[in-house]
Amino acid sequence: MSSFRRKQNRFPFETGFSNLYGKNFIKVILFMILLTAWLVSPSLSAGAASDFRQDSGDIVVVIDPGHGGSNEGTKENGFCEKEMTLVTALALYERLSQYEGVTVYLTRVEDTKLSLAQRAAFAKAVEADFLFSIHYNASENHELFGSEVWVPLEAPYNAYGYQFGCTLLPRLRDKGLFIRGIKTRRNDKGTDYYGIIRESVALDIPAVIIEHCHVDEVRDYPFCDSPEKQQAFGYEDADAIACFLGLSSESLGIDYSSGPDDPFLQEVYALDTGKVVASTLIDTTAPEICSVERAAEDYEGLQATIQVTAADYDSPLMYYEYSLDGGASYSPRQPWPGSDVLTGEYQDVFQVTLDIPEGIIPRIRIRAYNQYEATSESNILDGYGVFRRPQEMDPLVGPESVEALGTAVNPESAGASGSSEVHGWLGAHEGTEPEEDSGQPMRIQDFLLVSLLAAAVLVALTLMVQILQAAKKRRNRYKRKR
Ligand SMILES: [Zn+2]
Repeated sequence: MSSFRRKQNRFPFETGFSNLYGKNFIKVILFMILLTAWLVSPSLSAGAASDFRQDSGDIVVVIDPGHGGSNEGTKENGFCEKEMTLVTALALYERLSQYEGVTVYLTRVEDTKLSLAQRAAFAKAVEADFLFSIHYNASENHELFGSEVWVPLEAPYNAYGYQFGCTLLPRLRDKGLFIRGIKTRRNDKGTDYYGIIRESVALDIPAVIIEHCHVDEVRDYPFCDSPEKQQAFGYEDADAIACFLGLSSESLGIDYSSGPDDPFLQEVYALDTGKVVASTLIDTTAPEICSVERAAEDYEGLQATIQVTAADYDSPLMYYEYSLDGGASYSPRQPWPGSDVLTGEYQDVFQVTLDIPEGIIPRIRIRAYNQYEATSESNILDGYGVFRRPQEMDPLVGPESVEALGTAVNPESAGASGSSEVHGWLGAHEGTEPEEDSGQPMRIQDFLLVSLLAAAVLVALTLMVQILQAAKKRRNRYKRKR
């Protein structure tokens, strides 16, 4: 009991929670005993699919804080997943328990290691109608961001998971998170890849994995970087579960018993759960169309606007990356404009303005990702000039510039000066028509030419004067001799 109290201090909750937590602790102990008894008894065969929403009596929900003990889960960026999942799950438990007609259990309330089979078996032992496994994500290359829900492959569990995902994910989107969708994943044997889903479904328990966000991506970790924010995810989960199960809470003043107001959710809840939802199945084919064209350039403002056209006939486009070096390296992932993986919509044509580093000639390319990480690369946009801010050195603005130009009158140094070299090279490179910024370097060249001509005229005049004077002296001398 003492360690239990310590934990409570570590994760302070609202008043009233300690009672719930205490009750739960006893329940967990009781059902651990039941679970042990169940585990040693012969395995029960999975019955017909349970329609959990038509059960009489309390609906039984099991919350599974992912990982625990030596299984720490994701460890990135100072985050430890097994701790985060527990904080979120405890908050979820506390809030969901405030709804009527639901009994909530946790697979663990401490930092203990449980196998996936043990978690599913526990859910079976408490006659769970649904299991929600709580997780936080990270990607190998630290590039992904957003929230997703993993659901079973098989009907009707698949549709149940989909219905729940459609309830939760828009709430997370409202918080500002990017939505990665509701998906299935298959292992080599053709069954569910994720053990908690596989083991639960084998026991006739619908189960989903909630991957709240990516702890290793800058756009996501501000959503989970404190216990309060991790609790906030738990409250969001609880309300989504309550909505999904049609629960109501007098103390919270929430009533979902007459179903959702949202027409999209109404449609989703009316789905034929006997069928697998097509959009949850993996799309292995790459986006069919991915091309880019130039829209506008601002060479001095260091920006290029491009138009992207892309399409995938099987699954929505979700991210894009852009390359400035022809595809050798790519930008961080960008959310695909208008991407809504829940409705399958995305913008198939959009313009984007890219910042171009000063002094480079970009070779722009786009890589499109569909919802299942299949990618296509676009054509390469060649033919740009160098993007460069306006030069300080301007002969027409003041004496300083003229002085500076004095050193450049030498043809060699004029040839080596940045802008004239650049524009000369540009013309040779791709035959690009002179862009709007070509005025200034031309002014420098004109000035040099005029200066040279003036100098030449001056020299010529001086020479002529000297020749005339010499001739005059010679004539005078000749006259005197005569
Ligand atoms: Zn995890």
